[in-house]
Amino acid sequence: MEASIALGGNPNSGKTTLFNELTGARQHVGNYPGVTVEKKEGTCIVSGYRMRITDLPGTYSLTAYSMEEVVARDFLVSETPDLTINIVDASNLERNLYLTIQLLELGVPVCIALNMMDLAKNRGLEISAEKLSELMGVPVVPIIARTGQGKDELIRSAAAAAAEKKKNPPLLISYGQDIDSAMFEMEEEIRRYNFLTDIYPARWVALKYMEKDEQILGKGRSRNQEISGKLEQIVEKVSRHLQRVSDIWPEAVIADYRYGYIRSVLRQGVLKENHDKNRMYLSDNIDRVLTNRFAGPLIMFLILLGLYQFIFTYSETPVGWLESFFGWLNSRVSESLPEGHLKSLIVSGIIDGAGGVLSFVPLIMFMFLGISLLEDSGYLARVAYMLDRVFRVFGLHGSSVMAFIVSGGIAGGCAVPGVMAARTLKSPREQLATLLTAPFMNCGAKMPVFALLIAAFFPNHQGMLMFLLTLISWGGALLVAKLLRMTVIRGESSPFVMELPPYRFPTFKGLAIHTWERTWQYIKKAGTVILAVSVILWAMMTFPGLPDSETAQFHRQRSALLSSVSADIAREAETAGEDSEISEAAQVLKNRLNVIEAEQAEAGLRYSAAGRLGTALERISWLAGFDWRTNIALVGGFAAKEVVVSTLGTAYSLGNVDPEASGSLGEMLVKAPGWSSLTALSLIIFTIFYAPCFVTVVCIAREAGSWKWGAFSMIFNTLLAFTLAVLVFRIGSLIL
Ligand code: GDP
Ligand code: MG
Repeated sequence: MEASIALGGNPNSGKTTLFNELTGARQHVGNYPGVTVEKKEGTCIVSGYRMRITDLPGTYSLTAYSMEEVVARDFLVSETPDLTINIVDASNLERNLYLTIQLLELGVPVCIALNMMDLAKNRGLEISAEKLSELMGVPVVPIIARTGQGKDELIRSAAAAAAEKKKNPPLLISYGQDIDSAMFEMEEEIRRYNFLTDIYPARWVALKYMEKDEQILGKGRSRNQEISGKLEQIVEKVSRHLQRVSDIWPEAVIADYRYGYIRSVLRQGVLKENHDKNRMYLSDNIDRVLTNRFAGPLIMFLILLGLYQFIFTYSETPVGWLESFFGWLNSRVSESLPEGHLKSLIVSGIIDGAGGVLSFVPLIMFMFLGISLLEDSGYLARVAYMLDRVFRVFGLHGSSVMAFIVSGGIAGGCAVPGVMAARTLKSPREQLATLLTAPFMNCGAKMPVFALLIAAFFPNHQGMLMFLLTLISWGGALLVAKLLRMTVIRGESSPFVMELPPYRFPTFKGLAIHTWERTWQYIKKAGTVILAVSVILWAMMTFPGLPDSETAQFHRQRSALLSSVSADIAREAETAGEDSEISEAAQVLKNRLNVIEAEQAEAGLRYSAAGRLGTALERISWLAGFDWRTNIALVGGFAAKEVVVSTLGTAYSLGNVDPEASGSLGEMLVKAPGWSSLTALSLIIFTIFYAPCFVTVVCIAREAGSWKWGAFSMIFNTLLAFTLAVLVFRIGSLIL
């Protein structure tokens, strides 16, 4: 039996000392092929098991910045030793683990030799090898190379690990949203063309491209110019973006996050420093308050509540302006176009549909400003860190918090990147539970629905209610996760390691760019997807038109009414403008004509394709208080949640011609029969929990690797949402 073992570590970590200790006299010195880096090999025999040990050059990292690094990396990749013993200076853990992280990212089997334990102890450092082993997922053996203490145990552990030949999956670290999403995109390309994947893990290739690693770039270009170019373009794009937003290069961000990861490992019971508290970083001092076990959550709640108050207070006025603008535009266009389908399309389909969504642009902007502020400063990572404890109880993982926040956990976001962010979870079960529950978060598309209903029905408690909705969506997501983890996706949890990037002062420019980019995406979506869906739904709500016999019936009613009064009054009522003074008799006539017209419009809407669907659904939806118009909107919301607002806009605009009831959609809903604050609440609850939008479902299916889970999320979520909405509506009706 024989195993090949590489010995790697930082310079001065005691590599040579350990090597001599392990191999004794059985060693020889050569050169790595083609370079002048010294290569030492030796053997170590334990109970008949031969271990060939190769001393790698001492390096701080595995990027191709120096000859030593390239040699060490090439050896690991091309010779594929059965195990790498990573020797780590325990008195200088944070810097030494930087190399460890990269070994784990490369996915090679590793055993950590925690050296210089004597020195660490003298310096007042208390280090838990078990905890480190648990968090890093590899064996850790404390040693003192100079005296040989711990050597036997190290040999035993190494022999066992080498014999087991266990392939660790490469460590996945999140590098922040910008880099992560670019890397996901690159990984997809890499996997699709099996680009260099015969040698390296796909994510690692993406990472090296991101770090602009000359050696890998060279290999990639000679392998396939075109794919390499594509990857470089993606990197170029995210580099430019990071430069613009925070004046920083991807390499620096990557290093930041790796150190964040390490610091978080050390903070979780691995390292206790019993000395010299003044040497702590400012970041750590801030963290002692902000992530304090008691003060931390309290501060977090206050910050979130403050954020919502800020968003709703400051966005109310500009949202009002936009609403009046679209109202004005609507009446102008109405006046200047002749009756007919074209006018109906423009007024009811386009302006009331997409306009309703666009009115919320200021709200969305303030929301993204708040989120960018929390994110850029590094606070969001702390929120995730604090919530880890809670999440573990529900069978999720600290990294799930980030997926939730990206999905809109605080306010505004999108489940699509959220579902993809679940990839950073190591256990497939936790990943599945996360990506199935992340869509419950209040994404940016649900916000206009909430904003519309909250402003109309609960005008006095907007910020507070939004905060409550956030708690409801998180609570629901956690409970569902627990349910799933106890039934369909049962299984072990993995130990938690969370990246803690350093605090940064957000720059004004960075905030402005982040906010604008996200807001612009919302506007673009409203102008394209939402507009298209609005038009389709308008068509479904208009065609087929009422059959002639029914139209004639309404016509007869009108004629009968008109002929029952004198010609003068009839003319007066028919030609009068909205604000002109007319006689009392004409006014009465006009109102009665309006009622007939409204009835005709409603009959038409009910007769249309969408109307029939909505009416059919009414047979069960009445339990939750939804009428057929709301049903149409909710069906439309499956395309994109904003469509709920635009469709309500179209439905109430098509089915309502009473000028008295015109005004913003919110005002119309308040006056509409069948609507109460309880209906609004029931609708809000339903919107939080029902089927994710179409794009998210596709994404879930892809990430979970099966359409089964996409279908599951649609059906399960809708049933859950309906049950909750019925409960809210029925219990509410009893109480109120
Ligand atoms: P290399 O650069 O990684 O090969 O490190 P060396 O093996 O040359 O060791 C660097 C220094 O650390 C030498 O002076 C060693 O004597 C010392 N050293 C190695 N292991 C230990 C240890 O466990 N405790 C202490 N206190 N010193 C050590
Ligand atoms: Mg040496």
